[in-house]
Amino acid sequence: MIIEVDKGASPQELSAIRHTIGEEGYSAHIDQGEELTIVGVRGKAISERLEEKLRKLPGVLNIIRITEPYKEVSRRFHSSNTIITLNNGTTIGGDDLTLMVGPCSVEDYELVLETAHWAKEAGAQVLRGGAFKPRSGPYSSQGLGEKGLEILARVKQETGLPLITEILIPPDETMSVKQVIEMFERYGVDIYQVGARNAQNFGLLHALAKRKHPVLYKNGLGMIAEEFLNGAEYLLSGAWGDNGHNEGGNPNVMLCVRGVSGDTTVSRFPLDGNWIPYLRRKSHLPIIADPSHSSGKWWMVVDASLALIAAGAHGLEIEAHPNPKVAKSDDKQAIWLEQLMTIGRVGREIFEARRSMRIDYRMTPHYTDGGRK
Ligand code: PEP
Ligand code: MN
Repeated sequence: MIIEVDKGASPQELSAIRHTIGEEGYSAHIDQGEELTIVGVRGKAISERLEEKLRKLPGVLNIIRITEPYKEVSRRFHSSNTIITLNNGTTIGGDDLTLMVGPCSVEDYELVLETAHWAKEAGAQVLRGGAFKPRSGPYSSQGLGEKGLEILARVKQETGLPLITEILIPPDETMSVKQVIEMFERYGVDIYQVGARNAQNFGLLHALAKRKHPVLYKNGLGMIAEEFLNGAEYLLSGAWGDNGHNEGGNPNVMLCVRGVSGDTTVSRFPLDGNWIPYLRRKSHLPIIADPSHSSGKWWMVVDASLALIAAGAHGLEIEAHPNPKVAKSDDKQAIWLEQLMTIGRVGREIFEARRSMRIDYRMTPHYTDGGRK
């Protein structure tokens, strides 16, 4: 449920609203926007009694019951954009285009270091590289594992670039999810990537919900957008069935669109660009797009990148490799420095042009155009 409150409401009035919500056993989230203050009520099956009590309070303009199964992820609940700040101060979802660049897999130190220098030259803020690789088939290379994390940590130390790498449960039956997360923590991984193949690994999502560490959540190979938003709700809410509704989860989540399985004549994983405005309207979370896995073709990646920025992405995750011929995974989609530089330069121009449009994705009735949904 959300409560629209007059932006001129006094702190006492807001505190009375919060108190009433607490009294009935729910918790509140307050989002002070420019035109309205939105108070979100967390919890399942919110009582009529609370609604009646709230209606009588000064400052309350409107009470809306959220019909979507996800709340924390929804822009109705949280109208302003979420901006994520990494440890080195880099922000994601704000006024700068975010580029996360690196090889598909961490193969060796030299490769990652060289690609990191490319990334920096193109103005990328984050270095990517898979240490643990979730492959569709069991015979494919599964990555260097912990040794890969070690290499990433060395390159971070050398270049100062924050790291993103995929987190998954390795085939080591002695390791708990907690121990896996602690291992990633030890190597100073800045963003945990939850890949397409783990998008509905709810145990992993729940464990990541319990920490505030930034997560890049990629859509599953066969997911529709609503399933994707529900998966993200696991991360943001920390909820698990009837338990833990009010415990709260991880607010530092980015959504990454990477396409879905389908006709591969044109793209490896067709990515409907309309997902971007859709998700921006439905959710307040930063939207990152993946032109590499979606196109699957190195010569398409520049155009795809620019198109995804034009569609409203806050950033891109891109695979690059100095010598794709020997790449251990995803050689066909790896780009070179020259292409990265074009994406950095032209991509930022497109990003700026879009930013000057000041599109407002907020969707409470006050912001809809002439009442159109
Ligand atoms: C990756 O980023 O290398 C990766 C495996 O991505 P996805 O989970 O989207 O396939
Ligand atoms: Mn890859």
